[in-house]
Amino acid sequence: MTEIIRHDLIIVGSGLAGLRAAVEAALVSKGKLDIAVISKLQINRSHSVCAEGGTAAVLYPNEGDSLWLHAWDTIKGSDFLADQDVVVRFVKECPKQIYQLEHWGMPWSRREDGRIAQRRFGGHSFPRATFAADKTGFFEMQTLWGVLQRFDNITFYPEWFVTSLLIENGEYKGMTAIDMYNGTFHVFVSKAAIWAAGGGLRMYGFTTYSLSATGDGFAIPYRAGLPLKDMEFVQFHPTGLIPTGILISEAARGEGGYLRNNKGERFMEKYAPDFMELAPRDVVSRSMMTEIREGRGFEGPYGLQYVLLDLTHLGREKILDRLPLIREVSIKFAGVDPIEEPLPVRPVAHYPMGGVSTDIECATDAVGLWAAGEVTSISLHGANRLGTNSTAECLVFGAIAGKNAALYAMDKYDFPEPPMEMVEAEEKRIFDELLGRETGEDPYEIRRELRITMDENFHVFRNGEDMKKGLKKIRELKERFNKVVVEDKQRVYNSDLIYTLELENMLDTAEVIAVGALAREESRGAHYRFDFPKRDDKKFLKHTLVYRGADGPIIKYSPVTILYWKPVERKY
Ligand SMILES: Cc1cc2nc3c(=O)[nH]c(=O)nc-3n(C[C@H](O)[C@H](O)[C@H](O)COP(=O)(O)OP(=O)(O)OC[C@H]3O[C@@H](n4cnc5c(N)ncnc54)[C@H](O)[C@@H]3O)c2cc1C
Repeated sequence: MTEIIRHDLIIVGSGLAGLRAAVEAALVSKGKLDIAVISKLQINRSHSVCAEGGTAAVLYPNEGDSLWLHAWDTIKGSDFLADQDVVVRFVKECPKQIYQLEHWGMPWSRREDGRIAQRRFGGHSFPRATFAADKTGFFEMQTLWGVLQRFDNITFYPEWFVTSLLIENGEYKGMTAIDMYNGTFHVFVSKAAIWAAGGGLRMYGFTTYSLSATGDGFAIPYRAGLPLKDMEFVQFHPTGLIPTGILISEAARGEGGYLRNNKGERFMEKYAPDFMELAPRDVVSRSMMTEIREGRGFEGPYGLQYVLLDLTHLGREKILDRLPLIREVSIKFAGVDPIEEPLPVRPVAHYPMGGVSTDIECATDAVGLWAAGEVTSISLHGANRLGTNSTAECLVFGAIAGKNAALYAMDKYDFPEPPMEMVEAEEKRIFDELLGRETGEDPYEIRRELRITMDENFHVFRNGEDMKKGLKKIRELKERFNKVVVEDKQRVYNSDLIYTLELENMLDTAEVIAVGALAREESRGAHYRFDFPKRDDKKFLKHTLVYRGADGPIIKYSPVTILYWKPVERKY
């Protein structure tokens, strides 16, 4: 008999969104709730620790910035696909979150006058990236972790892998998970849950993501019947370091870095004369790929053509003070010291704008289940996210989800009854079918082919023919996955099994990206099609919703909330 574990409130994910939700739930419930946090990683290893450049907030309205301007930049950045009520709520909450973290001990970098420092970031018309050197995420995670030590009503389940959500008749009833330490299978039941399992784009080969960011957060709710929204919009960050794809933060350009082609020209002059290197990421990535396609890039290893990011003019002192991590990473992984020489960079898969659909209160379509952070599409980023709005989103909406879910759980008397036939089917699927199979397909070969397919067909520039080819290949890989074999048969810390479950999540996520992208016959934000090069507001000023049907994905659409800002041409 599978063991059932009960907590009043369960939070899946211990990144910025999950930890912020946990703090808020603990504060709101004043010790009355039994809270659990589940993570497939050690708590502080979540991808959030990699956030480098900063967190957006308007801190100095008396110096010319305003909430209105932050909202406008976000909406224009989103190519008008963001829901404007969500954006307005977000920009109002951001400054509060910055000061709240400050009070909890966050070591924000300082200006000369001792106040919190801010720097420019792409698409923001004012310096509002609040940072701690170039290790912002690391310090934010540490700060929240520190606060959580005050509470004794939170149980942590590090290295537990959630495999499915139990949703029945539109109601959340629990989840199944594997304790990776000993390979045992469990059911979790709670009155409410917060899904903060992050996003991830490891289905691409050249990406900034940690190995663990495999899109589980998308695929698991999708398989449980929840819709994924706007998944076709994949952000390519302009500066992935050659050859690994490790991120060179936008902070490098925020501090004054230049992009140059093989003629030594600062080519952004041509594409975004006002914002130059600090135009939004979709614009800069397209400009770089145009330079490369037209022969003004450099040849790199593994066929990775690149351009140069020049920081040499910033000087040693500034680089050591403001960009120490960037320098360390560049020396270690590219053998280049940015104090002395420009860095080889190219656009890199960095962030999925879409995710699990929620309303403005972070509620999903399943009663009792909230979601926050990168895993969601609350419709804040639309078709293109501005840098630093993501960590801010995790703090703002993590807190909102934490509060709403905690209040709901406190009001609820009974635990839901988990549908045991779903639990048994899941256990059989993983342990009998997947682990029981003796011969078949190699998961690592499928993973390799998936990454090549995504890099080739769903990149910065897209077209219908290539995407059709890509989708066909993804479906063929999904077929092959049905015959996949896990070589390692033992239970204790079976990473072979976990990688295979992650591969399944990547395949499902890839299919949703592909069908959404093919159906959207226009160019908007990060989704640029050669065969439909113009934005088409008449037909496509709407959100894509992809549901899982018996015969594959089903596409529906929902309207965009427009309040004050009407769509206009986007120029930088
Ligand atoms: C290299 C890099 C740099 C970035 N820099 C910035 C920046 O400077 N500013 C900015 O605003 N944004 C930045 N971003 C984006 C931002 O950091 C992320 O969007 C954000 O931190 C995501 O937080 P999260 O809590 O939603 O998810 P994550 O931090 O990814 O956490 C996900 C959690 O879910 C858990 N989980 C996932 N699947 C399962 C499962 N199956 N079972 C159990 N647990 C599971 C994981 O263990 C983890 O704890 C950056 C992103 C990257 C990749």
